[in-house]
Parts: sequence; structure tokens; C-alpha cells
Amino acid sequence: MSARVLYLHAPFCKRKCSYCDFASFATPAGDPLMASYGAALLRQIDEAEKIGLIDGLDTAYVGGGTPTFMGGSTVELVERIAALGPSEVTVEANPDSASLDLLSNLRDAGATRISMGVQSLDDGELRMLGRVHDAQTALEALHVAVSLGLSVSADLMCAIPLQTPSSWLYTLGGVIGAGIGHVSVYPLMIEEGTPFFQAVEAGEMPAPDDGDEAARMEEAAAILTAHGYERYEVASYARPGRMCRHNLSYWTGASYLGIGAGAASMFGHDEIPLVADAFPQIGQVPANAHRIRLSCKTDRRLMAENPSLADQVIDVEFLNERESLAEDLMLGARMARGLDRDLVSRSRDVMGQELDECLAGLIDDGYLDDALAPTEKGWLLGNELYGRLWDLAEAAD
Ligand code: SF4
Repeated sequence: MSARVLYLHAPFCKRKCSYCDFASFATPAGDPLMASYGAALLRQIDEAEKIGLIDGLDTAYVGGGTPTFMGGSTVELVERIAALGPSEVTVEANPDSASLDLLSNLRDAGATRISMGVQSLDDGELRMLGRVHDAQTALEALHVAVSLGLSVSADLMCAIPLQTPSSWLYTLGGVIGAGIGHVSVYPLMIEEGTPFFQAVEAGEMPAPDDGDEAARMEEAAAILTAHGYERYEVASYARPGRMCRHNLSYWTGASYLGIGAGAASMFGHDEIPLVADAFPQIGQVPANAHRIRLSCKTDRRLMAENPSLADQVIDVEFLNERESLAEDLMLGARMARGLDRDLVSRSRDVMGQELDECLAGLIDDGYLDDALAPTEKGWLLGNELYGRLWDLAEAAD
């Protein structure tokens, strides 16, 4: 058994955005570290393939950070993973570094999909977020990607300070008008350790308002669905045939390998011996381990010097069968199609009537409908819905 889903992490950005707590670091343009880091990832892909951790791919995703900021190194990575046969290869792009040349080279190397970090089409909002691009650059980058025949997604952010209902409508209209097939909509989160967190703590910036967030999410749902996008996940909208299959794997419990500083991997029960061989540093595997999650904590410079998988600093988490099922239920509830019947049946075998009581409660309280799909309330108050499903990880006393 091997993972057929691969994620590569590019932890470099031109500048750090004011809200960002992702594993990414402001880096001078052309820093040779990016080329040596890219070479290290190529070595790790070779090693993972040799060991059998990956064996042919369905989907791959190069995320970050800003993969397009790595330029030719990202093209080489895409070329390498394309040779593993995936039918979907997504590259995250920042409009600022998504030139016609680079996008064209990425497409020729095997990229099929671009996920553009647009966030907003209002220059004031973009400046407030600390983004390096402006609205015009974002629109041009979307048009270029579409004109190259790539499948294009835009990430948008709502409940940003300065955002108004009309600026939000303008942003939604702009990305729809660019002819893209996929839109992801996220509310601004204030993460500890970021400049926004400090500003909110100091009273210099208002915390995002729940009511504003709900209103913007509802407006996005109404407008995008009216323009032919289907909401298939709480934050994801796609025109027919444009769903992100890579992300669907994350929400359906598929095994995936993450390579790079800050990347996460997850493997199921049958693959644990292989993972333990590839990463001897994780130590003893508990007898009841049903799922393993790895999180790479290696500094990007050290990874460039020591690419071997066995040399990486790895945080490891083991989940037993019950925890794995609760996690899958929680992730499944993110999707419009709701909880998979087979998953519910397997969960019932392990959790018994606790599962049925939990699901009945979620239906009674209006979070799920009778088909076990999220309702409007379930979309808006997702944390309550996911939290109650995750609580099933612990057996009741
Ligand atoms: S571009 Fe993305 S990864 Fe980079 S700092 Fe901004 S939000 Fe973070």
C-alpha cells in the first residue's frame, strides 16, 4: 500500500502577510536557498518512491508559502511529480509572481491547476492584509492562467477590516468575471503570533465580527451558486468538473504524503510499517495505532543540507480506530454530500449507539439534515458540528 496523494511545501514568500501563521518565511528574491531546498525535495521524492511510500499518483499539490516565488525550482518539482502520473497537479500561486512565462512553464511541466491567492480585489484591503499584490495584478494573473487552459481557483478572504458588503460583491464579481472554475472562501482568522493578533490585543484593530463573517459567507454562497458554482465543501465552490480532487482526498480519509518543511502526512493502518521504516526517528508504534500523522518540523535550511527522510525532525501522532473514524466523520461533515453511508456503518460497528445518539442530536439541533448533510446552520456553525463529531473519539464512560 502506498499514498497516491502527494503534497509538496514551499516555505518561501516575498513578504510575510500580517495575518499569516503558515510555515512560510520572507525570503529575498532569487535566494539560492530556494534552489537548494527544491533540490532537497526532489531527493525526498526519489527516496519516497524508492521505499514505496508513493507509487504512482492520483493528485499532487504544491503549496506554501508561495511556490511561484521559487520560480524554476517549482517547475522542476512539477516536472518530477508529473512523471508519477497524477491526473491533477495544483500549484499555489501569488499574483505577484504568477507571470505568463512561469505559468506557461508550469503548464508545460505538467501542472493542470492553479490556486491563486487573490484574497480581495480592493487595494485598500490588500494593503491592510499586507499582501504584495494589487487588484489589477490579481485580475491579470487570473486571466493569464485561464487563457493558458489551466483549471483556475481563487482564494478569497472575508470579514477583513475595511471590507464592506459592496467591496465584497465587487471582489466576488471580479473573480467570477475572470472565468475561473473554482473559488474558495475563508474568513479572516486572527492567529497568535501574527501582527494582526498583536493589533487586536492592543485594541488597535477590531476582532473579526461573527455576524459580518456569517453575512459575507452567505452572500458568497448566494452569488457563487447563482453563477453556476456548486458549494461542495464548506469553503469550496466549483463549476461542473472543477472540484479539487486533491482536497477531496483530505476530507475522505485517503493516505497522503507531505514533503517539505512544515508539510503533514497521513497514512492508514496498512501503511504504518512502511512509514516506520522510512522514518525510524518516530520510534515505537503503539499496538492499537490505526492511523499515523506526521508533521515535519525541520528548518528549511537544515532540510536543504540534509534531505534524507530519516534526518527530518518529525512530530508524530497516532490515532486508534475510534479516533480515526471520528476524524473522518468530522471531515466528512465539511462536504455538501454529507456523511458517507459506509463510513457511518463502520463507525457504528465501533461506537455503537453513541454514534446514533450523536447524529440524532445533530439532526434535532439543526446542524445536519436527515440525509446527514450539513444544513445552513451546520455550514455557519461548523465548529460546533465538527466538535460534537470529534467528541465521539472518546468513548463515553
Ligand atoms: S503569501 Fe500566503 S503563505 Fe505567504 S505570507 Fe502571505 S498568506 Fe502567508
